Amino acid sequence: MISVAEAIQIVRQHTRALPFERVPLEHALNRILAEDVVADSDLPPFDRAMMDGYAVRAADTANAPVRLRIAGESAAGKGWHHEMKEGEAVRIMTGAPVPAGADSVQQVELTHELKDGTVVELLESVELGKSIVSRGAEIQAGETVLQSGVTINPAMMAVLAAFGYAEIAVGQRPRVGILATGSELVSVNEKPGQDEIRDSNNYSLAGYAQLTGAVVRRLPLARDETSVLKNQIATAVEECDVVVTSGGVSMGVYDVTKAALKELDAEIFFERVSLRPGKPTVFARLPNGTLVFGLPGNPVSVAVTFNLFARTALLAMQGVNEPGPKYETAMLARSLKRNPERESYLPAQLTTNDDGELIAFPLKWGGSSDFVAFALTTALIVVPAGTNALEPNSLVKVLRLH
Ligand code: AMP
Ligand code: MG
Repeated sequence: MISVAEAIQIVRQHTRALPFERVPLEHALNRILAEDVVADSDLPPFDRAMMDGYAVRAADTANAPVRLRIAGESAAGKGWHHEMKEGEAVRIMTGAPVPAGADSVQQVELTHELKDGTVVELLESVELGKSIVSRGAEIQAGETVLQSGVTINPAMMAVLAAFGYAEIAVGQRPRVGILATGSELVSVNEKPGQDEIRDSNNYSLAGYAQLTGAVVRRLPLARDETSVLKNQIATAVEECDVVVTSGGVSMGVYDVTKAALKELDAEIFFERVSLRPGKPTVFARLPNGTLVFGLPGNPVSVAVTFNLFARTALLAMQGVNEPGPKYETAMLARSLKRNPERESYLPAQLTTNDDGELIAFPLKWGGSSDFVAFALTTALIVVPAGTNALEPNSLVKVLRLH
């Protein structure tokens, strides 16, 4: 049986980035940047005052207190474009250009104006260069300021705006069909009859998929009949880059997902992973190129396997640089039992202690069907196969759930 790491590798190997598209800047938030962003101007674009006060020559203030003639005023958006001479000062506002001839700005609190605003008295001398950000000090025109492959956050939106990116290239959002299988399933607005339960996987799966940026199509619930399921998948793939099914991949008589995929001539890349929960996970590709993740039906298995495999594919399709799961290291808050078998993913909550260390609290849960306990889970603790019992304070790998 292949390991989780091998399975992730296989997913990456068979997943291609979708073409990029150009969107107006206001639609770019949370999308994946598909081009490098280059500054079209210096920042700041001129020597800029950082304070309200007076632009002066530092040398003129060496023997403060000193009186200087006010030659003019430079405001943000309306600078004073003359040469300031020795013995002069220019009243200046935050964000305004520093006039030629001035080399420092004294803040207004250390000054006062005299004689109807024609003279200013500086109470203290000014350090050369004080309160000026010189042109290009932050960024120079032509510099790459953002690299493709990052998720565009609000601060990056500001960067894009500042350099005139009214439109921006981003990775296309994959279209994901979500398909729950199981003859026992009824939808949320129905009352389950005898032997029935409400479908909940379609909602967690749609949620996880949306968090990756994918566009979700909810497909009708499928009964455990190969021919029906086959037709439903065949219809779905026409409009989907990826189909994620839940249920029907174990060894039971009515586990028909793989049979349906085979009848559709799917190429199956793996169908078992050394993982708990989530061993019978299937990854396949249909002849038209649509990828299929056949996840087990148990709600917690669904969450674990989606976040390990399907999420990786959906991020890679949008051009994310490092789409695979990002593990972190945390300190275990209590002991964990020995794990002789498969790599295990246990529900946990993360916090930090007073020393700034990341702490993982394993949650009490009733196994892979316990989706109510799982709703409080913020991370999964990874316990490698063959681990002896883990003591409190041991370091463990964790995977945050998004
Ligand atoms: P299966 O993988 O089809 O054998 O399903 C394993 C368990 O998960 C069974 O108890 C199913 O009833 C349950 N299950 C399957 N699909 C869903 C679903 N969409 N929502 C909630 N539970 C499900
Ligand atoms: Mg089933």
